[in-house]
Amino acid sequence: MQLNHSQADLYVPDGISIEEALRRTTCMGIGAHQDDLEVFAFHGIIRCYDQNDEWFTGVTVTNGSGSARSGPYSSFSDEEMLEARRLEQRAAADLGKYSAQLQLGYDSSEIKSRESRSPIEDLKRILEAARPEVLYLHNPADKHETHIASLVKCVEAIRALDPGARPAKVYGCEVWRDLDWLSDEQKICLDVSGHEELAASLLEVFDTQIAGGKRYDLATLGRRRANATFYDSHQIDRSDSVTFAMDLSPLFDSDILSLEEFVESKIQDFRAEAINSLKRFENR
Ligand SMILES: [Zn+2]
Repeated sequence: MQLNHSQADLYVPDGISIEEALRRTTCMGIGAHQDDLEVFAFHGIIRCYDQNDEWFTGVTVTNGSGSARSGPYSSFSDEEMLEARRLEQRAAADLGKYSAQLQLGYDSSEIKSRESRSPIEDLKRILEAARPEVLYLHNPADKHETHIASLVKCVEAIRALDPGARPAKVYGCEVWRDLDWLSDEQKICLDVSGHEELAASLLEVFDTQIAGGKRYDLATLGRRRANATFYDSHQIDRSDSVTFAMDLSPLFDSDILSLEEFVESKIQDFRAEAINSLKRFENR
């Protein structure tokens, strides 16, 4: 497996070849930064955890440069910080028993550049080698620019695959903006209950991010709990931890559907739902 960036990092926790690690992959997450996968693709991680016939592979597109540093990391140089974040992502792969963890090594600006084709080539090569059945990506209504830019590269890479080689399921998941606003018929409800310890420890690995005072670990677990409880007002909680996802497969059934048109239609549905509720009860 040859990737374009000189800083690319390919890691296989159990030490088999990267080719074999990709070949056995059934679920894959592609995230912008170190720690994104553990926030949004936990459903795929636990589906494969300790299974012989299911394997999760993580792909992290950027090198994590430019992240805030404070506390014990305040004196770290750029290079030291990049290395610390790379090692944290590897540690998560060990803990979550991933098949492989690939860190593509790009600066965020290279991902945001419309002209940059190298990340698309890398992603296409990885997807062709792994042929995951389920693919977890950022959702197109996320508010973090690098997340959106990463998703755009992923969509181009998937569209470059033969239709028969594309993942059967492609989910757009929650990080910076949740998906509670999607109408219930359009929400994909991914049950992630029953793995509290693994969930917490996979998030706590990313100490460089948490030490600055951003408790992504608590926030992520809290969101999963809130999703489960606020999902249906008339049912008792069947699950205590849920992540929501958007079904992105329409983007790969039709290669001419733009992400902009796709999100526009979801927002229109949300708008209709919210406005119709008011129309039913308000006197005016
Ligand atoms: Zn991120």
